[in-house]
Amino acid sequence: MGEQVDAVVIGLGVAGQDVAHRLRDGGLTVVGVEEHLLGGECHNWACVPTKMMVRAGNVLAEAHRVPRLAGAATVASDWSMVARRIRDQATHDWDDAETAAELTGSGVRLIRGRAQAPVTGEPGYDSPSDRFRQTCSALIHRTLRGGRYASACAG
Ligand SMILES: Cc1cc2nc3c(=O)[nH]c(=O)nc-3n(C[C@H](O)[C@H](O)[C@H](O)COP(=O)(O)OP(=O)(O)OC[C@H]3O[C@@H](n4cnc5c(N)ncnc54)[C@H](O)[C@@H]3O)c2cc1C
Repeated sequence: MGEQVDAVVIGLGVAGQDVAHRLRDGGLTVVGVEEHLLGGECHNWACVPTKMMVRAGNVLAEAHRVPRLAGAATVASDWSMVARRIRDQATHDWDDAETAAELTGSGVRLIRGRAQAPVTGEPGYDSPSDRFRQTCSALIHRTLRGGRYASACAG
């Protein structure tokens, strides 16, 4: 028989990591499965990297206003500086080892790979335990983000 755990969190983007941490904090045994990079879209490709691009664009636009408003300025844009900043500061060269260490250090077991959730009634599907339901309900009531946890707790 396979290993039994209270919860398996499929996908460890921002939402999955948060759910995994909170279920673990609630005393459940938790396995997290991620097929690409921990942090998902937001950390690796979207929120932070795009803000660095937007910030660079804004700075260039502002600098181009100097001759009209305040004197003289020569501006030469250099995309490589933006790319380097994204690589080094935002994504650590798309290396999620630090995030993985933080997650596993908190007691969540990490499995790398693509997970497939069993469908209700199929072999391998166990309906959620009472302990799982109670922890999830407490989590939903304790936070303002009920919607996110409600879907995670639906079993
Ligand atoms: C350009 C851009 C800019 C954005 N800027 C902002 C911003 O400034 N602020 C903001 O709040 N939001 C922003 N967002 C939105 C934000 O990126 C998303 O809301 C957020 O990433 C969603 O997180 P998530 O954890 O729900 O999903 P995801 O980040 O998509 O994570 C899901 C994870 O699950 C994994 N996964 C999926 N299926 C499986 C499977 N079967 N087995 C194993 N792993 C699996 C994926 O690999 C992924 O890592 C932006 C989005 C874009 C596109």
